[in-house]
Amino acid sequence: MKLANHICGQWLEGRGEGLPLHDPVSGEQLVTVSSDGLDLAAALEFSRREGGAALRAMTYAARAAMLGGVAEVLQAKRADYFDISLRNSGATEADAGFDVDGAIFTLKSYARAGKVLGAARCLREGGRVALAKTDVFQGQHFLVPLSGVAIFINAFNFPAWGLWEKAAPALLAGVPVFVKPATPTAWLAQRMVADVVEAGVLPTGAISIVCGSARELLDHVGECDVVSFTGSADTAARIRNHPAVVARSVRVNIEADSVNSAILGPDAVPGSAEFDLAVKEVVRELTVKAGQKCTAIRRVLVPAPVARDLAAAVAARLAGMPVGNPRTAGVRVGPLVSKAQQAAALEGLARLREDAEVVYGADPGFMPVDADPQQAAFVQPTLLFCDKGLAARQVHDVEVFGPVATVLPYGDVAEAVAFARRGGGSLVASVYSADPAFVGALVPAIADLHGRIMVVDASVGANHTGHGNVMPTCLHGGPGRAGGGEELGGLRALAMYHRRHVVQGSAAVLDLLSREAADAALLGA
Ligand code: NAP
Repeated sequence: MKLANHICGQWLEGRGEGLPLHDPVSGEQLVTVSSDGLDLAAALEFSRREGGAALRAMTYAARAAMLGGVAEVLQAKRADYFDISLRNSGATEADAGFDVDGAIFTLKSYARAGKVLGAARCLREGGRVALAKTDVFQGQHFLVPLSGVAIFINAFNFPAWGLWEKAAPALLAGVPVFVKPATPTAWLAQRMVADVVEAGVLPTGAISIVCGSARELLDHVGECDVVSFTGSADTAARIRNHPAVVARSVRVNIEADSVNSAILGPDAVPGSAEFDLAVKEVVRELTVKAGQKCTAIRRVLVPAPVARDLAAAVAARLAGMPVGNPRTAGVRVGPLVSKAQQAAALEGLARLREDAEVVYGADPGFMPVDADPQQAAFVQPTLLFCDKGLAARQVHDVEVFGPVATVLPYGDVAEAVAFARRGGGSLVASVYSADPAFVGALVPAIADLHGRIMVVDASVGANHTGHGNVMPTCLHGGPGRAGGGEELGGLRALAMYHRRHVVQGSAAVLDLLSREAADAALLGA
């Protein structure tokens, strides 16, 4: 079966045989995708003209209700999505839940939050600015929805969440979405879009999907479009520097890779709640989605006296987690999504081993449960130990996009800060400590290089939302090598799909233009 593309309000197959999508356990070919022959310029123009106009004719509250409708459609088909996740991504039940339920949760969150903007159609920011000696001439800042299209170029690891975490704020803002999912796992995104289109909960042109190559899509971007990319740093650089993006000053948001840290404080010693919470979280990050999360823990920074204890505790837990065919009862860790990803992860692991010794995993004789290692794309969960600190040449730079993490012992808080910062900009760091001196020194010292910092101690316990779990109400994105992007953060995300401008004029003009405006302060409320 060749998956159809949805553009110009129609379902169209691309030309040719298309690119195959596989089952990463059996190697079986599932479906094909092709974007060949599609008129991408016309497709983008249709989205802007039809989808944009229809969405902007609605109020924020109406669009929020529309998102609730999308969530209901997806909720009703949840079992189908778990099945596709299993077949195309090798997802365990928990892995599929992370992606599919995460998508539905995010949509519901925006459906709820968007209500507060009510019957408005734009946003008024701040008070009037005095520009003359009297109030005869003043300024007022506004934010209006962009009249372009939001183009999403997504990574393979979150075909569901990656689509809807971007689409929810864009649609709520009144901007149509145009998604290009990553080819290896495009099936789930395509099926979700098909279900939503069939249900008729979005206006025509509000959502489009092109599967397969992006081809010359970016040649056709316009001044009022947004390009939101999630994927590798190499592709990000190509997108950022694309001539049309540069020439038209197109707004670009980049979510790229990251060598995130988990950091134990000096009080997180064996027997403490903080130590146990850290061990649990490192294991979870190594195994959920087989480590294929941009937010996963890649480096574990541990006070030197207990670093070996931490490594041993993580290794003991990993030993109890069967890796293999997710269709088999008891299996906790699935494969990577493709043989290509397996090869890339093993190549990255070899580079890390130039700096580090193996504590657990990396077994050349590793055999997954109920799967043929020749056909399947498994990587054994692997924990490394590196005592080279800042002299290490690979561990601070190489993101193995799989179940691999490295423990690094550190001496004092200054060294922990230096290691975390050496990541060059990360999506997230998690801190396990109840020591106010440590937390108070560490967090501000790493904050400008991290998008999110999660601090966990015994008082938080199991109530924390997870190192790798992105909450729709909190910021997602990170500086430097993480791409410099900002997503989510509740209604803050709407800012990317609006243009700020100031109108200078009489009070009467400003009153007129403010009639349909909600207070932009609500975005940060
Ligand atoms: P990738 O190879 O860069 O691909 C990402 C997307 O870009 C895919 O849809 C791909 O399409 C498309 N693409 C490739 N070349 C393109 C070009 N010249 N023009 C336009 N589009 C192009 O990345 P990936 O391997 O799918 O994703 C893994 C990476 O994503 C990891 O490094 C991970 O850390 C990062 N990631 C980051 C986040 C975050 O939120 N920060 C989330 C998830 C993943 P095709 O598949 O058709 O080639």
